[in-house]
Amino acid sequence: MSCDKSIDRRLAEKGVSRREFLKFCTMVSATMGLAPSFAPKIAQAITGSQRLPVVYLSFAECTGCTEGLLRSTYPWFDELLLETLSLEYNETVFAAAGEQAEKALHDAVTKYEGQFLCVVAGAIPTAGDGIYGMIAGKTMLEIARDICPKSMAVICIGTCASFGGVAAAAPNPTGAKGVEDALGEALPKPVVKIPGCPPNPINFVGTVVNYLLFGKLPELDAYKRPLFAYGKTIHDQCPRRSHFENGEFVEEWGSKEAEMGWCLYNMGCKGPETYNNCPTVKFNDGTSWPVQAGHPCIGCSEPDFWDTMSPFYKAL
Ligand code: SF4
Ligand code: SF4
Repeated sequence: MSCDKSIDRRLAEKGVSRREFLKFCTMVSATMGLAPSFAPKIAQAITGSQRLPVVYLSFAECTGCTEGLLRSTYPWFDELLLETLSLEYNETVFAAAGEQAEKALHDAVTKYEGQFLCVVAGAIPTAGDGIYGMIAGKTMLEIARDICPKSMAVICIGTCASFGGVAAAAPNPTGAKGVEDALGEALPKPVVKIPGCPPNPINFVGTVVNYLLFGKLPELDAYKRPLFAYGKTIHDQCPRRSHFENGEFVEEWGSKEAEMGWCLYNMGCKGPETYNNCPTVKFNDGTSWPVQAGHPCIGCSEPDFWDTMSPFYKAL
């Protein structure tokens, strides 16, 4: 294992033992479908001197995706992430406001044109030429049209930036769309979508680590989601699957079948049509995930899920 001393010192300053950190890196490695032997390389990539400039744009969103990323259950992870990535602009964590923040955005985009990663959270209102979403006197549509094409790649974090999400649910009076749909041909850059409501932060980390380790973005599915995270359905990884196969279904909340952890298909579970890695990665430091807690999957990482997967408590 070849993490150098300065890394140990930096981790120690955050109150993190090397053992804890390598455990985290092993989890990232498993999430990415890599062998455990990659963990030290991931540790090196996360704590190395290479810093990736990032401009993080927030559009029509609830800030849940950003909070999910920064308020990770690893209390030190946000700082480490901010060290690994050179966060040039992010309205949520920025001390600067108003004209200062606008200047920071302009300076970062000019200085790192073609080299920065543009992370976008939130949908983009397009009706009325974008008038329903304004920041500093400009429409979100204008801002996205200006900034995204200057990046080296765009990462859509969350279902809203990926596919429009709740902002785009019918009747969608603001004409909200995901970034790629909103920009169309004005976005001649690679796009990676990390949907979920919220997405699991580990899938964002895996995407960034893939770039740091291999110098390229991960392999994607037809919706441009990383295959390492969205390659299998919830149903195919679900620990309740044997109950599904045996025809053992929960038919009522609070029933003994619910207590026994039977399959939630008849209670509306959308796991058979939803691609995500929740059953293996889980949330809150691997503590649990919705189906484990007794709630059906509502299909939050699929396009247009508010419209196509609802009513949420009706069987597919
Ligand atoms: S609970 Fe949902 S995901 Fe799990 S086996 Fe049943 S239908 Fe499939
Ligand atoms: S279980 Fe389904 S609804 Fe819940 S977070 Fe995972 S993909 Fe989204």
